[in-house]
Amino acid sequence: MPISAQCACKSVSIELAGDPIRCFVCHCDYCQRMTGSVGNAVAVFPETDVVRMSDAHELDPQMPKWPGVKRYVCPECYSNVHWVNPKAYPGMRLVSLGCFDDPSAFKLSSTVQNQHRPTWCPELDASEAFEAYPG
Ligand SMILES: [Zn+2]
Ligand SMILES: [Zn+2]
Repeated sequence: MPISAQCACKSVSIELAGDPIRCFVCHCDYCQRMTGSVGNAVAVFPETDVVRMSDAHELDPQMPKWPGVKRYVCPECYSNVHWVNPKAYPGMRLVSLGCFDDPSAFKLSSTVQNQHRPTWCPELDASEAFEAYPG
């Protein structure tokens, strides 16, 4: 059964054929600023599992370390719904966990860049935790 994620105003959505291959939270500096929160919660899907995507505004954040990153945001409410990072996740579509109807339907695989996690934010319940990026 396909699952879908959508922005805050529900005008941008993405539909996926199955469950994510992994879910993680990145606490890096960029993700904290981008989300305005303690990190970025992400579900990773093979591009071949993308059933349908509505039009979204494409942002090119120009990240020297991660060439080719593109973010797809809602032109109305500016929610970041999904993106690609061809260097870190070739062939994958990254979808904001918070855009799913039930983010707790998925298990958190890992947390990364814990060195940047705010001291008042408890460590999240994931199978693996990394101080920096894994690998
Ligand atoms: Zn929206
Ligand atoms: Zn990050």
